[in-house]
Amino acid sequence: MADFIIPTNISPSLQARRRLGGPIHAERHVNIICVGAGASGLLMAYKLQKHFTNFTLTVYEKNPEVSGTWYENRYPGCACDVPSHNYTWSFEPKLDWSGVYASSREIFAYFDSFANKYNLKQYIKTEHQVIGAYWNDETGGYDVRIRDSKRDQEFDHHCDILINASGILNNWRWPAIPGLDKYKGTLLHTANWDDSVDLTGKHVGLIGNGSSGIQVLPTIRPIANHVTTFIREPTWVSPVQGLEQHVYSDEERRDFERKPGVLTEYRKNIERGLNGQFSIFLKDTKPNHDTREYFLSQMKDKLQNQYLEERLIPNWAVGCRRLTPGVGYLESLGKDNVTVVYGEINEVTEKGCLCDNGIEYPVDILICATGFDTTFKPRFPLIGPDGLNLQDEWKDEAQSYLGMAAAGFPNYLIFLGPNSPIGNGPVLSAIEAQADYMLKLIDRYQTYNIYTFSPTREAISDFIAHKDEFMTKSVWADPCRSWYKNRPDGPITALWPGSTLHYIEALMDLRIEDWEIKYNGNRFAWLGNGYSQTELDSTADWGYYIRENDDDGPASRAGKRRLLTKSGTVKQTSGGVDFTGKTNVVEEERANL
Ligand code: NAP
Repeated sequence: MADFIIPTNISPSLQARRRLGGPIHAERHVNIICVGAGASGLLMAYKLQKHFTNFTLTVYEKNPEVSGTWYENRYPGCACDVPSHNYTWSFEPKLDWSGVYASSREIFAYFDSFANKYNLKQYIKTEHQVIGAYWNDETGGYDVRIRDSKRDQEFDHHCDILINASGILNNWRWPAIPGLDKYKGTLLHTANWDDSVDLTGKHVGLIGNGSSGIQVLPTIRPIANHVTTFIREPTWVSPVQGLEQHVYSDEERRDFERKPGVLTEYRKNIERGLNGQFSIFLKDTKPNHDTREYFLSQMKDKLQNQYLEERLIPNWAVGCRRLTPGVGYLESLGKDNVTVVYGEINEVTEKGCLCDNGIEYPVDILICATGFDTTFKPRFPLIGPDGLNLQDEWKDEAQSYLGMAAAGFPNYLIFLGPNSPIGNGPVLSAIEAQADYMLKLIDRYQTYNIYTFSPTREAISDFIAHKDEFMTKSVWADPCRSWYKNRPDGPITALWPGSTLHYIEALMDLRIEDWEIKYNGNRFAWLGNGYSQTELDSTADWGYYIRENDDDGPASRAGKRRLLTKSGTVKQTSGGVDFTGKTNVVEEERANL
């Protein structure tokens, strides 16, 4: 069998000549750098290893361990509010999750063992931070600048394709409150937790009531002497009915392990439920209205306090801010050792927080559960062929191609970029769809002799116009303060205009008409020496298309979808359990359309 793998230590022109000597679709060598070994980076490594040959992959990870957000976020009570069996890759279940909601440590262990099981750490360099990427016109691709923090050295590494898998909820930020640097007590951020700090018997201040803040309060309250929590915006908080925390018994875990199909059906049911909740995010729909009524009664029931009800229950629609199913949060607010301070913190003093009611609240430890920089600007200068820096391009509003690429920055792909479905439904399924889409591009790059690929400006501007129009119908456009947008009335930059299933289907085909492609020389060079790959494979059936009958798969999109989604195999179109404990959200919503 002929060897048509092209060595990379030869010049690009010689490589090109050798390519012409190969068969059709010869797989040229591709050199990929991935930024970050969190969930997305690990998945990319797994998929490249599984599906591709003749590639080099280096994943640079700034932390000493893999798993990204689940390595970094280790504050007390940190857990995932998505059911654990559905916070896994679709193809990689974990049989022995401890409970419905898993702690961050358990999720860290899941991704770490995923990396070990598939030997992915061979691609990963930990404690290496990407600090810049500069387009190189001569070679096509980026010269990437890396800081090796262990050796305190910097070096450059060239790649053909740069994948940014550094995550959106990664660049944690201190609140913009004057005087924070003057505080003399212990200052902590939830996403940069210091395990050595002991909260026992202390007076703790807690800023923020987002997903992190509401997990922290019920966990620290029993050990702290007192907690003063500073809240400046109401929020919808409620547990999901039917999916309260539950620790799996040994018997349940045995069933998951031994009884065929039990775990898969359990996972599918939860996923159907998560996918069935999308209508909640559309304004003036029955599911949104029902959810609001349900949350309202739950919040009143749990708060039992007129003052808190008036301040904590929002006027804006349910879902405008990310839904926060907080276990024990509302109950904690009414406890004797908790003080709720509602309003702005004007200043942080040496002792604590000085609020807009004129009162200074001294605390021993101040926890900022104040979230992340969610502007989508890359954390390093990314300089494209025109000399533009994506950090500047996206400083006011990040505009991407379907959440994965930017105009003017060829051969650059992003996981969970602007307008990805990060809060629309199950996020790991969306990451899988993005990885598969990227593989399609990499495959074309490798087998069509492509020099650069980048989404066109026209395609992005049409996508943004469509997205903005769609968003007027969504609850996210309500005037709440949320990291889904830069300001309460600003464009929504963090969410996809549709459901997660909608996104998965949108990404199924590579719409090559939206991409500007430049080739290495003749666009048909990939036709090569006239031989097919089959003729170079002596183990392949050279008459493979001769058959006994027509066993072709569906040729139309609708047919393919019906096959893929196993249409007709589920008894009723069920939305599973929604936030109000009801089923069939999808059917109800469809009836309203
Ligand atoms: P967040 O949702 O952005 O919340 C930040 C909180 O800090 C808000 O309550 C905000 O108040 C407050 N804050 C910020 N600056 C402030 C200031 N200057 N003064 C007073 N308050 C201030 O951040 P997060 O709670 O870390 O969550 C971020 C995202 O991470 C979540 O939405 C979720 O996607 C993810 N997450 C997920 C889980 C999970 O279980 N899956 C857990 C934690 C986090 P305003 O609202 O008034 O701005």
